[in-house]
Order: sequence, then C-alpha cells, then structure tokens
Amino acid sequence: MPANSPRCTKRILLSDLNRILDPLVFLTPSLTKGKIFLQQLWQIKIDWDHPIPDEIREKWLRFYNQFEELGALTIPRKCKPVMSDHIEVHRFCDASEEAYDACIYVRSKDKNGQWCSWLLCSKSRVAPVKGATIPRLELGGALVLALLAEKVAAAWELDVKDFHLWTDSTVALGWIQSEATRFKTYVANRVDQILELTNAQQWRHVGTAENPADILYRGWLSHSNDGWEHSFTTLPDEETLPERRVVKLTLTTMDQSIGIIEHYSSWRRLVRDVAWFLKFIDFRRPRQIGTTARYLSVSYLNKAETSLIRQAQLQEFNEEYISLSKNKEVSGRSKLKGLHPMLQSENLILVGGRLANAQIAENQKHPIVLPATHKITRLIFEDTHQTLFHCGPQALLAEVRQRYWQIRGRSMARSVTKRCVTCVRARPRFVSPLMAPLPKQRLIPTRPFAVSGVEFAGPLMIRSGIRRQTGKRHGLQSSYVSPQGPFT
Ligand SMILES: [Zn+2]
Repeated sequence: MPANSPRCTKRILLSDLNRILDPLVFLTPSLTKGKIFLQQLWQIKIDWDHPIPDEIREKWLRFYNQFEELGALTIPRKCKPVMSDHIEVHRFCDASEEAYDACIYVRSKDKNGQWCSWLLCSKSRVAPVKGATIPRLELGGALVLALLAEKVAAAWELDVKDFHLWTDSTVALGWIQSEATRFKTYVANRVDQILELTNAQQWRHVGTAENPADILYRGWLSHSNDGWEHSFTTLPDEETLPERRVVKLTLTTMDQSIGIIEHYSSWRRLVRDVAWFLKFIDFRRPRQIGTTARYLSVSYLNKAETSLIRQAQLQEFNEEYISLSKNKEVSGRSKLKGLHPMLQSENLILVGGRLANAQIAENQKHPIVLPATHKITRLIFEDTHQTLFHCGPQALLAEVRQRYWQIRGRSMARSVTKRCVTCVRARPRFVSPLMAPLPKQRLIPTRPFAVSGVEFAGPLMIRSGIRRQTGKRHGLQSSYVSPQGPFT
C-alpha cells in the first residue's frame, strides 16, 4: 500500500482514494469519509508532494486499513428478486455538517408478501468549507437525489416523475413545496433545478431515524429491509422558512400628462390632441346629443386648455391648490402670496386683485396664474409670439397678460424671443466699416488753434426733461453739420 511508504503526500493520498473503482457508488459510506479526510487535509494548505504530518498520516492509515474489510462485502449482481411481482423505487437524501448525499433503493415484494430492499446506487458530495448551513446542505442533497433519479430513470427507461423521493428535512421540503422566487438566490436556484426534474408532490418526509441515506456518512450499517414507512409530518409555514428574500416595495408614481406634454412643441397641436382625447372619452360614454360630430367644437378646445393649465398648476402650486380648495389662505412663503390667489369654478388658480368692479373682460380682471418655468407656459408664450408675427418681448408679455399672469413673465418673454429661430435669423447685424487713418494734424501735438477744421456729423441725441429721455430734437436737426473744435 503506497500510503504506508515513508513519503506519504497529498498526491499519494488522492491517488489511493481514487484507485478504488466503484461505478455504482456502493462504497459511498466509506469513500465519503475519505473525501472528508482529504478536505480537511486541504485546509491545512500542504503542498502536493510535501510529506503530511505524522498525526494526520496515522489517522489516514487507520482509515485506509478499513478498506481491507471491504473484501468481505458481497453485492448481489441483481437487485430484483426473481419472484417479485411488485417493485417500488425509493430515493432518499440526507445531509450532515460534513457531507450531503442521495441513495436509491429498489423495494420489492415477493409472492409470499415479504418485502426486501436493495441499494441500487448512491451519490455523495462533501459539504463546502464555508457558507454551508444544514438546511442548505439538505437542499443540496435533494438536488443530488433529483439528478441521480433522472440518470436512473433514463437507464431504466422509466419516467422520473413516478418515483418516490424522500427527505428527512422539513425545511428543504418546505422550500420545494413553496414558490422558489420568495427565497434567496442560492435556495431559489436549487429549488428551480429540482422542480425542473421532479414534481413537488413526489417529495415526502421520512423520519431521520428511518432515513436509509443517513448511513452514508454514519458509515455502512446494513441493508435495512423496512424502514421507510411514510411518516406524516406538518411542513413549516412558508412565512417561517429560513432564507426568505426580503421584499422591498417601492411605490413609484408616474404623471402621464408630463410624458404627453414633453412630446409637443406646439401649444395649439397639444390642445387639439387633448381635445380629441376628451371627445373620444365622451364618445365612449352613453351616447349624448352633440357628441357624434366629426369635428372639434370650441367647448372641447376650451376644456382641453383648461385641463392642461390645471395640470401645470397642480404640479407647480400643489400646496397652494390644497389650501385654496379648503378655503384657506396660501402660505406666507408661497410665490402666489402677493397675488391674493383664488380658485375658479373649473379649479384654476386665478389672480385675486382689486379689479372686480372694472369694466373689462372677466379674464382680465382675474388672469390665470401660470407657473414660471413650466413647459405649458413656454408653449403659450411661443404660440402668442408666433400669432403676433414674432413680436418683441414687451408686446408678447402685454398680449399674454390679457388672459394669463405668469410668474417672472418678463424673463420668459425675453427667453422666448431670444430663442425663436425666425427672430434670430431676421435680426439685423450691424457691420462697422473699416475707417480711414486719422489725419496727421490730429496725431501731432501742437499749440491750441494751430490747426482747425470742419467735420460732418450726424444728428445728435440729447437728454432733456425730468425723465431725461433721449430722442431727436427738431431744433437740432439742422446741426447735421456741426463745427469741429480744435484738434488739440
Ligand atoms: Zn420669433
């Protein structure tokens, strides 16, 4: 035996362990212990060809010598009795802190009513060094069992969904019977793999003491003929199962109207489209007089305009809107405080003011408040600017204020005029001509009045009066030719 040699290294131990040919894995109980021993050896981080410590070497030799007893082990070539007329295939899985495993037994009943069971094959895996909990290992055993069952079913040309699958872990059973997405990724992935191969109804619970798979890491006991009587147990409630994913609810609200407005660059087109929407909504309602017309009426356009402006006001002046709807004063910090706002019957915020008795139109007495930087406000200004044939900011603001009162309207009017492509293209550019060099008499210092001359000049702009206004004065129009003083 090479392990007895003086140079007992990790490479030799691995070679010794893998020298045992066990295609159907009947010797899993013994070989699993060898794998666990190698895993422990791995953790001390010893080189492949470095002699292992004496203490570990003695342990290995004691374990390795037990393999000699395997020579007395007899395994029947046929697992199915000749006279049996009832055959069942049972699969078990189990786990411990060191390993998890699965085994498949064939159970048959002969004509005398005697049951006998034979181990068909098994599979085991050593538990990972880190991050393994018993429920996770139990679930790993269930996955190994499902994979093993699929192989056996394929070899026997049977449907794997007809087999009985047993586990002694109520937690693993609870995971399999629950919805996988409610658990953490590790559990959810394995439950998904298990349920791809098997049905949740195939999985049953067996008591730990009766679980034949338990022998795989306790050591080889015997072929127990009976021991997997179906034990009924109550599965844990899904809410109490471990590894549940913490559900985080995030409430997001989307204002659909903002999305609509952002797609428009024309106020009129936006109003018309919203008006068509409103007409369509009315059309879907029980038929009313006047709703079947195929054109838009002014009432729909007005309704669309009102709803769009109301939406803009709700977004920008929500607190004020709530206060006014409760017949309260707006907050002292509000931008609308100085306007004494009031709420209209159509739920629009209007300017209060003191013009209630004026002989002017109603919308001039109480103009509609527009937010300072809202897209709706800009669209209204742009539309008015184009309606007035690209007027200047003063005229634009005056026209808009016939009906609306916009916060910081002057800056919006300037901005709209400045950004208008048509206005920018039409804006004249003043080109200053290249002037001739100055006469040398102006550049050479001399005594006063040594040189004098006359130069043409244009009209003079003078300031006069209380407001110091500038402008042409008729009295000076004759002084287009002004006397030029001494050059120096
Ligand atoms: Zn323009």
